[in-house]
Amino acid sequence: RAAGRRWPGRSPAARPIARPDAVLLGRRWSLGYLVVGVSTGLIAPLTPSAVQEGLYGLLGVSVIAAVAGGLRLHRPARPLAWRLLLLAMVLVVVANFGWAGMIAAGLNQSHFSIFDVAYYAMYPALAAATAILPVHGRYGSPLAGMTEAAIITSTAGVLLWTLLVDPLVFDVGTLPRDPDVLAYPILDLMILSMGIRLILVTGTRARAHLFIILAQFALLAADIVYFVSVANGGRMTGPPLTVIGWSMANVLLGAAALHPSMGSVATAPSARLAPERPVALPFYVLLVLLSPAAGAYSVLTQLRTGHLDPFDVIVPIAGTMLTAVLLVARLGQLTGVAQRRATDLDTRTIDLEDALHRQHALQAELAHQALHDPLTGLPNRALLLRRTAEALDRATPGGLLMFDLDGFKDVNDRYGHPAGDALLIAVAHRIGVRLPSGSVLARLGGDEFAIIAEVADPDALAECATEIVATLRMPFEVQGHRLHTSASVGLRWIEPGAATDDLIRDADLALYAAKSLGKDQVVVFDPALREKRLEGARTVERLRSALDCGELEVWYQPIVALPGGRSAAVEALLRWRAFDGPAVPPDRFIPAAEQSGLIVPVGEWVLRQACRDVAGWWREHGTALSVNVSPLQLREPGFAAMVRAGLAEAGLPPSALILEITENVLMRAEDGIAQLAALRADGVRIALDDFGTGYSSLAYLRDLPIDALKIDRSFLPSDGPDSGQRTPLVRAIVELAGALGLNTIAEGVETAQQAALLAELGCQWAQGNRYGAAMTAQRIPALLSGPLAESA
Ligand code: C2E
Ligand code: CA
Ligand code: CA
Repeated sequence: RAAGRRWPGRSPAARPIARPDAVLLGRRWSLGYLVVGVSTGLIAPLTPSAVQEGLYGLLGVSVIAAVAGGLRLHRPARPLAWRLLLLAMVLVVVANFGWAGMIAAGLNQSHFSIFDVAYYAMYPALAAATAILPVHGRYGSPLAGMTEAAIITSTAGVLLWTLLVDPLVFDVGTLPRDPDVLAYPILDLMILSMGIRLILVTGTRARAHLFIILAQFALLAADIVYFVSVANGGRMTGPPLTVIGWSMANVLLGAAALHPSMGSVATAPSARLAPERPVALPFYVLLVLLSPAAGAYSVLTQLRTGHLDPFDVIVPIAGTMLTAVLLVARLGQLTGVAQRRATDLDTRTIDLEDALHRQHALQAELAHQALHDPLTGLPNRALLLRRTAEALDRATPGGLLMFDLDGFKDVNDRYGHPAGDALLIAVAHRIGVRLPSGSVLARLGGDEFAIIAEVADPDALAECATEIVATLRMPFEVQGHRLHTSASVGLRWIEPGAATDDLIRDADLALYAAKSLGKDQVVVFDPALREKRLEGARTVERLRSALDCGELEVWYQPIVALPGGRSAAVEALLRWRAFDGPAVPPDRFIPAAEQSGLIVPVGEWVLRQACRDVAGWWREHGTALSVNVSPLQLREPGFAAMVRAGLAEAGLPPSALILEITENVLMRAEDGIAQLAALRADGVRIALDDFGTGYSSLAYLRDLPIDALKIDRSFLPSDGPDSGQRTPLVRAIVELAGALGLNTIAEGVETAQQAALLAELGCQWAQGNRYGAAMTAQRIPALLSGPLAESA
């Protein structure tokens, strides 16, 4: 057994496999059998009757062998039709032998016998075999083609009647001795119509199928000849032509079974559009005309011969009516086909519309993606540009507002990007729900957002911006963390006639300015900003060279102990005087240095320089050094090491150093806090600079690695109108610091009253012009000798 020839999903045993050479063998056997069978059938009548009987008997048995052999050889997937054919052949052969036996025994052949039953039984078997040969597809109907076959049959029936049966039987007035002879042609005609239907429905060209139809035709022809012969008083065995026709029919069926195409399945087209192949129109016309024409011919000829009887009219008319009814039925079927075709087209149209719809949806989706930020779903920069242009066109009053989260990078660094993303989404939502109607919120990338605000005037725009800043100061609960953030905002009023790009660039400049000014604030665009921006860039360039050229200098401002005014420390304050120009104030170049990152090397230089300057004062007077530290410096992983190296270089103990940091730094840089904590463990003190101007929750202070608060000078009572209200604030801060075990340093002390108040409140240290402004290192030793202010 050939291995490896497996049918998918079936065990090889489930379906016997035809031998590999079955096709070749089948062709040869089929052709050989046909040639031998036909020649035998043709030659037999020429032989003596005994030989003739034997040859026809042999031919009959050979058909059974041929069909059985074909079934074995080709192993068709649907063997039932061929088994029914085999059954039909067995019945015929049995009937033939029985008949021959009856003749040999001299029995009355005209009597209905058991063998006639066998002959009749052959017809259902043959009809069933022909009927189940075609396979109907999913949409095909088992009835397909039946109507057309019936039309052909009914017309052929009328012809059969008018041309043969009527003239030979009824006109003669003698019924044949055996009425069966009339039944056979009619049954043959029905079987043939099944064969014609097979071709009509499947359009099969398979040799095996054609042989079957030819056999059915031969059977019909032979039975007609037999009928005519019997009707004319011939012998019941029939003329040789009849026997030849019968044997031809058998041989053709045997050859069909042997042919390899017997295994091929005649499939009716499964496509909904072509459920069957309608017969060509001219053929219909011919069919419709044939039965009335035959009827008319019959009536006219019989009028002349005087043989006209009612049946001559009834039968053709009945046949014509049947044909007409069948044609109408066929018409209905074709209409149904046309309708199905139409709905199918409709469905296709609907499918097409659906596909178009989906394509549109996809396009919309892509357009949305191109214009929106995937994280927040907000419009992106491209759409902001478009909306800004539209706002310009509409000329409705409004402004462009750009904001950016201060220290967003720290959130990412500290809590991870998912937390940063969640914060951005929360910001987008918080701002989105508070926007004035008609406004557009966009995300430009990173932590930068923009708003086109539809507001009445620049004041309303500024109000809106202030509100946003206030809103963003409220902490966010993100992934279980409580995140504090703030925003810097740049504003640009949309002036009619302005260019979109300019508006966006101006708002961006204002935002940049807001950040430069210390963040957490609003800056309204001013044309001077453009100049400032350029200047900032120039400043950074010059500062870079200033560090190399030695244009930088560290000045010192004394910090005194209260009460008494004994100098306790000095704050290092950076000064920059270009060789060929005026001094640049720190408020101008420090922000530029921070934005450019230049503050890191500059800050390091300050610390090392200050440590060297202060070393002697520390040894002599115990004067400590206070140094400002930028958030950017703290982010450097080597910051603590750098500080230790600076101290070691100058021979200073850690207790001689105070690091001034701002609140924002502490809240956002985990690594920075760790470095500060490590330095603090060494003995370095940490002071929180500008205390009170930030927005940290006071409870948070408890957990920070700090030793002192530097109270911002804006809290000190002055001669101004609200001076009275500030005193309780300073008192509260000092008390709070005391409760937390922190020292307090008051900044910007200018008057004796302020000094007296601070001393009374229990503030430990003070710094300000009252004790001395920032000065060069050379001038400090003279100050350190005695008290700096006698009154406090
Ligand atoms: P700051 O740390 O708050 O420094 C105190 C500022 O207040 C100094 O301004 C000082 O001259 C000024 N000041 C002191 N006493 C008085 C007073 O009685 N009245 C008034 N009106 N002002 C007083 P300065 O030197 O212009 O420094 C400005 C800022 O620049 C500093 O503010 C500090 O934040 C930054 N800065 C200065 N040097 C450095 C540095 O080396 N590194 C870093 N990162 N920042 C520095
Ligand atoms: Ca400071
Ligand atoms: Ca300060």
